Order: sequence, then structure tokens, then C-alpha cells
Amino acid sequence: MLNVEWVEPETLEDVKHALASGDDLTRVVSGGTALSLIIKQGIYQPERLISLKKVRCELNYIRPDNDGNLRIGAMTTLREMETSPFIEQNYPVISKALHHVANPRIRYVASIGGNLSHGDAHLDLPPILLALDAKVKVESVRGDRWIPLADFFQGYYVTAVRPDELVTEVLLPKTDPGLKGAYIKYTTLSNDDWPTLGVAAFIQQEQGILCDVRMAVSAVTDVPAKLEAVEQLLLGKPGSEAWIEQAAEMAFHAVEPSEDLRGSSWYKKEMLKVHVRRVLQQLLPEGQKG
Ligand SMILES: Cc1cc2nc3c(=O)[nH]c(=O)nc-3n(C[C@H](O)[C@H](O)[C@H](O)COP(=O)(O)OP(=O)(O)OC[C@H]3O[C@@H](n4cnc5c(N)ncnc54)[C@H](O)[C@@H]3O)c2cc1C
Repeated sequence: MLNVEWVEPETLEDVKHALASGDDLTRVVSGGTALSLIIKQGIYQPERLISLKKVRCELNYIRPDNDGNLRIGAMTTLREMETSPFIEQNYPVISKALHHVANPRIRYVASIGGNLSHGDAHLDLPPILLALDAKVKVESVRGDRWIPLADFFQGYYVTAVRPDELVTEVLLPKTDPGLKGAYIKYTTLSNDDWPTLGVAAFIQQEQGILCDVRMAVSAVTDVPAKLEAVEQLLLGKPGSEAWIEQAAEMAFHAVEPSEDLRGSSWYKKEMLKVHVRRVLQQLLPEGQKG
């Protein structure tokens, strides 16, 4: 029987004060979908849980700012993101990917803040947001700071968020409308399982030459990671099947996957090669294929 103190602060300031001791046995609860699992499994035993329920209104929004960036409040649910007309129109990759995350019951309560803060490498959104150069705002009684998503994930279930901090917002920088993206989730256990690997790619071409290339992976490594070597290889090259093949080969050599119940290191390496090829092929216009 767990003996946990349950706190429901009324304001964001109260949440920050409740977290101020920086005690690792205190955690905030957003949707609770991930936290409840690790508590049930006995992996983590909190002494105090701080519910964000009463500050949901302050942290629940999807809105473009005056500079054309997209700002998403930390308590926005995955379902609200999936069905947002603004996201569907401007970041269709996110809407499509979310459609295959877990199941509707989870998506109705799981939040973007909880999704990132959980620090699980086996999630679908992180590689997409990494490739889009997202930033995360964290707040505490000590002040606010922005963490580029590329520095956010620091290890297996370890993030750059300190115990006294709270994720409050995710910012997606403005992108050129010519930037086209795709995400492939590959699962080995069941269709709706966590990914065995996830690959996100965005490219932009000018007269058949790749002038912007962004790629990131999840689940193959301990932290979601950008495929910088592949990005560099493709930048300035023609968008063609031949270069895609080289990119797939480079991904194979550049990444040392971690083994888990969904695949051995070698299997994931082979699958990464296949899926880097596939995700890039999806982005080539018909005339540049074959
Ligand atoms: C059955 C099942 C299937 C799933 N399948 C998939 C899948 O296919 N793909 C996928 O990507 N994901 C999948 N998930 C994971 C799901 O996306 C996460 O559980 C969810 O996004 C976590 O969000 P939450 O709001 O429920 O977080 P919570 O469980 O509330 O919190 C998770 C962690 O983040 C911390 N936290 C929460 N909010 C904040 C905040 N604002 N600031 C700082 N720390 C915070 C909590 O203290 C906790 O440590 C699945 C989950 C389940 C249960």
C-alpha cells in the first residue's frame, strides 16, 4: 500500500512553490499515464504527487505567436494536438503520427509536457519535434529557462529538467512552407505498440537540390537523437534515389543501437537502414523517383 501525499495547487505559482524543495520523491502529475505505470511496477515510489489538474487552463493552448512560431502549453493533450486544425495544416506530420500513438483513451489524457518529461526513448513525438528544432520552456521559483530539445534528453529516462522545475511550454520555430516532412514508426510486437524505431525526416529542395535536411530517430538509441551525419551528407546534394541509398548506408554506420525487448542491436541497425531509405523516398516527388 503506497503512502503518498496528493497535492492540488490552484495556481502555477503554487505548483512552483510545491516543487521548490527539489526533492526527487516529489513529482508532478499531468495525464498520469506514464507515471502510474512506473509506480504500479514499483520502479518509482513517490512520497508526494503534485497534480496539475487545477492549472490545466493556464497550460492548455496551441497558438502561433507574432513571429510565426507555434507555442503549445504543457497540459495540452496529445488528442488536442492530433485534432488541432492549425497543426494539421502546418505540421501534418505531427497529426498523422499522433493518430498512431497508443490508443484514444491514452491520447485523451496524456499531455505533451508529460510525454517529453517522461524521458522515454521509445516515444513517437520526440524525433519529430527534434527534427523541427523545438525548444522547451521550464519554470521554477528560481526563474524560467528554455532548453533546446536537442539538449533536453540526457539519458535513459533522464532529462535536463531539474527536480524543482516544471515544463510549461513547447515552442516549434517557424518553418518554411517548402519544408516537407514524414515520420515512420516501425513496431515489432503489435501495431499499436511503442516503436521499435521511429524515424522523422524533413527536406526542402530548390531546383532539385536539397537545401534543408533534418532527420532524427527514436527507440534505436538511449535518447532520441538527430542523424546529423546523414543531414550533412545530403545537404546540397540532388534529391535522388542514389543519394537516399547513401544516406541509408550512412545511418547504418553512424548509429550504435541499444538492444531491448523489441529488437537486438544488429536488427535495429538493419531496420534503421531500411526505414531511413523509406522515409526519404516518401518525400521525393514522383519525378525524382526511380
Ligand atoms: C498503454 C500505453 C501505450 C503507449 N503507447 C505509446 C506509443 O505507441 N507511442 C508513444 O509515443 N507513447 C506511447 N505511450 C506513452 C504516452 O505517450 C505517455 O504515457 C504520455 O505521453 C505521458 O504523458 P502524461 O501526461 O500522462 O505524463 P505523466 O504520466 O503525468 O508524467 C510522466 C512523467 O513526466 C513528469 N511530468 C509530467 N508533466 C510534467 C511537466 N509539465 N513538467 C515536468 N515534469 C512533468 C511526471 O512527473 C512523470 O515523471 C503509451 C502509454 C501507455 C500507457
